[in-house]
Amino acid sequence: MSYTILTGDRPTGSLHLGHYVGSLRQRVELQQHHQQTVLVADLQGLTDNGNNPQKISTNVLNLVADYLAVGICPQKTTICLQSALPALAELTMYYLNLVSVARLERNPTVKSEIMEKDFSRSLPAGFLVYPVSQAADITAFGATHVPVGDDQLPMLEQTNEIVRRFNHIVGRQVLTECQPLLSNVSRLPGLDGQGKMSKSRGNTITLGADADQVHKAVMSMFTDPGHLNINDPGQVEGNMVFTYLDAFCEDAALVADLKAHYRRGGLGDMKIKRLLEDCLQSLLEPIRTRRTQYLADKGELLRILRQGTQRADQVSRQTLGQVKAALGLDFFTLK
Ligand code: ATP
Ligand code: MG
Repeated sequence: MSYTILTGDRPTGSLHLGHYVGSLRQRVELQQHHQQTVLVADLQGLTDNGNNPQKISTNVLNLVADYLAVGICPQKTTICLQSALPALAELTMYYLNLVSVARLERNPTVKSEIMEKDFSRSLPAGFLVYPVSQAADITAFGATHVPVGDDQLPMLEQTNEIVRRFNHIVGRQVLTECQPLLSNVSRLPGLDGQGKMSKSRGNTITLGADADQVHKAVMSMFTDPGHLNINDPGQVEGNMVFTYLDAFCEDAALVADLKAHYRRGGLGDMKIKRLLEDCLQSLLEPIRTRRTQYLADKGELLRILRQGTQRADQVSRQTLGQVKAALGLDFFTLK
């Protein structure tokens, strides 16, 4: 069965290893057999960066370079820019009437982001309603499946509520419900061990990190604070190096052996860190090289983004047309 897939990222900084295991790795697989659209969510990026639009604009083409560097192929995947798709903003305006402020305030991801960003009374209205604009993105492309990290599950729930409400009001199935595609690592912790790896928290290893940065990041990772001497039994749960080995080492049997050895005692932290560093260096080295090559030709990145955006514009306008027709507001549509 072929899925219709929509995902996206905010151009708020370089993509990182959390994106890689949470979503990018799956996208590269999914594009082989499914209809996939990837959205550079610059409008959503502005919702908490309204005073700093340059941060968003300078990261748009970097994000496209990250996509291409990990193997997202513009012939197979439509890569498009949110702010250049007016139908998405229009759909958001319609959907805003289908959700209450109280419901938005209860969204657990938005709730924790608001606390973390310490907006207090200056919470931008756009930030509170960004799940509604995400609902517009997902439904505009008729997405049936959305490969995301687990922080996005409340957004998909909220999208489906809007879809059901809309379909109920107009009395027919105009919009499509979606379901998440969670990877086996749906929340990679950040280097600080505090919550998920995230651009805004500065706790990342980016896809463009150089060999020295990768080395330093791995060497300074937390292990088990109680594991003082090599011969002490060590703890694997909550040990960042093992969490990362689970996510990045392809040899699961080797990791299982190392865990058993670590638990028994006799395995030093340096050994597991070296293995992790090898895995990460060999993953990132080719990505870094391709990324640098793509970034050297901004004109080409722009061309790829423009082409994808033109395709996405047609699809999203069609959905908008259907929504307006269902509401009886298609007065000026040529029939
Ligand atoms: P920001 O801090 O600006 O919100 P971010 O690092 O959270 O940036 P997003 O652009 O918000 O990245 O997320 C894009 C996608 O990557 C989402 O599907 C999200 O679930 C996934 N993702 C982000 N961080 C992680 C992580 N640490 N582990 C797994 N998936 C992640
Ligand atoms: Mg985020």
